Amino acid sequence: MDELRELYQEVIMDHNRNPRNFGEMEHADHAVEGRNPLCGDHYTIYLKMNGDRIEKVSFNGAGCAISKSSASIMSTILKGKTKAEAEKLFDVFHKIVTGELDAAAHMEELGKLAVFAGVAEFPVRVKCATLPWHAMHSALAGSENTVSTEEEN
Ligand code: ZN
Repeated sequence: MDELRELYQEVIMDHNRNPRNFGEMEHADHAVEGRNPLCGDHYTIYLKMNGDRIEKVSFNGAGCAISKSSASIMSTILKGKTKAEAEKLFDVFHKIVTGELDAAAHMEELGKLAVFAGVAEFPVRVKCATLPWHAMHSALAGSENTVSTEEEN
C-alpha cells in the first residue's frame, strides 16, 4: 500500500508541475470559473464540444497541488467522452473522494483518477479535488456563472 501511495503522490506532483491542457482556450463553447475560497484555488474550465461529445478540455488558473493536478488529470480523461459519460465519472469520482465508495472496487472505471482515492482521508482537501469537476459540470449544463465551494455574497 505504501508503494501505491508513493506512486499516487508522484502522479499528483507530476501533473502539478506539468499541468496538461493548461491555458485559455480560444473559441471555447463553454467556460466556467470555479473557486474554492477556503484554499484559494481558482480555475476556469474551458470546453469545446462536438455535438454531445467533449472534443477538448483546457483550464487556466492557480491553486494547490491537489486542485491543479485534479484539473489536469480531468482534462486528459474527459477528452472524447459524452456528456453522460463525463457526468457519470464525476459522480463516481465524487463518491470516491468523499469516501462513499471504495476506490478498489472501481479501479477500472477510475483509471488515473484513482490517485485521488487518498483524499478521502483529508476532508479539507475534498473541495480542492472536486472543484474543477464542479466547474466542468456547470459548464456542461450551459451555465456561465462562477461556481464556488462556499456560499459567497
Ligand atoms: Zn486546494
